[in-house]
Amino acid sequence: MIRPNTVSAEQLMREAIRLAYQGIDSGAGGPFGAVIADEGGNILAGAHNEVLKTGDPTSHAEIMAIRALGSYSLPSVTMFATGYPCPMCLAALLWARIPKVYYCNDYTMAKAIGFDDDAFMHTLGEIYQCSPTFSEKSHTSLIAISPLTLPEGKELYDYWLNQPGHKHY
Ligand SMILES: [Zn+2]
Repeated sequence: MIRPNTVSAEQLMREAIRLAYQGIDSGAGGPFGAVIADEGGNILAGAHNEVLKTGDPTSHAEIMAIRALGSYSLPSVTMFATGYPCPMCLAALLWARIPKVYYCNDYTMAKAIGFDDDAFMHTLGEIYQCSPTFSEKSHTSLIAISPLTLPEGKELYDYWLNQPGHKHY
């Protein structure tokens, strides 16, 4: 896996941010991008959110990137996501056997710009009898979830908020 806080990890996150801007500017979706890289830091796939373009609520950047790779088992890759992965994407990461994900913006930041998944998380917590109180976790036995905070992440969300008539979804 790519070592944390290296220049290349930051560059990969910046690529995810660049893709997110592409998604906003093309009207495809919200301010979310994702990149999948191999151990050498080579980009294997990159995507942005496409929920608005496709009308498909599962078209999150992380899911689109996994689909672009076309493999059901990705045990040696690292994902770089502009936001803390939602429950659906975290589940997809687990199913894809992706062992490591970096996120730039935390969940509080997504909530602040209107992407509030609390109700979903609480419902999933009820269904799976987990703690109904969401808190960002950094490590589980199956996946490491690490912050890779960049000032560009906040700028990305601000850019989305300042889009005239940006769609709330
Ligand atoms: Zn998601």
